[in-house]
Amino acid sequence: SGGSNDNNTIIVGADTTFPPFESEVNGKVTGFDIDMVKAIAKKEGFKVEIKTMPFEGLIPALQAGSLDMAVAGMTIKSDRMKNVNFSNAYYKSGLSILVKKDSKIKNVKDLKGHLVATKKGTSSVDYLTSHGVNGSDIKQFKDINDAYQALENGGADAVLFDNPVNINFKSKRDNVKIVGGLLTGEYYGIAVNKKKADLLKKVNDGLAKMKKDGEYKKLFDKYLDGDT
Ligand code: GLN
Repeated sequence: SGGSNDNNTIIVGADTTFPPFESEVNGKVTGFDIDMVKAIAKKEGFKVEIKTMPFEGLIPALQAGSLDMAVAGMTIKSDRMKNVNFSNAYYKSGLSILVKKDSKIKNVKDLKGHLVATKKGTSSVDYLTSHGVNGSDIKQFKDINDAYQALENGGADAVLFDNPVNINFKSKRDNVKIVGGLLTGEYYGIAVNKKKADLLKKVNDGLAKMKKDGEYKKLFDKYLDGDT
């Protein structure tokens, strides 16, 4: 069972609209998460095949058994733990609010009554719902780039999303700003098919080795330098 197509190849789901953790550059999937998973596989002696899909499809695919694990800057959340197992945390993150430079929105309270764009199926949707942003005021996109585009063309008043991804977008523009600071503490983990207890152990072992031998730090410096 599971998605493995041979004994030693692990099928890894990834979402490609989450830079710098993962993105597609010239048809190639790249980023911190991708390199991390490859490094873990090398240390633990298995091969990986990356299968990309929208974020919202990852947990259902793990449950259906078409994926063995998924790496997608996925926030470790208790409701998700009913459906997948999580590795130990590999990154401390949080959500933030991105607006146009001339916006009057200053914090999460100001979001009420505004159109807020984000990615479908993510922790940001849960956050907005529990902070008084009404259902139809949340504009949900499969691709976060469409949320940023909505902000730029006036289709949304703010984007609420994972802070490192907001920072990544902001670094390419001079017409946007982040307001209200870091809204939550969230930890990213690798999601593993619940039937793959051995794989979960290997992932945690490989992660621990990477942290110990400096490979994790090397990747951090390569992709996340200046990320605060
Ligand atoms: N960290 C967020 C979540 O897990 C978003 C992840 C993503 O868009 N890839 O819901």
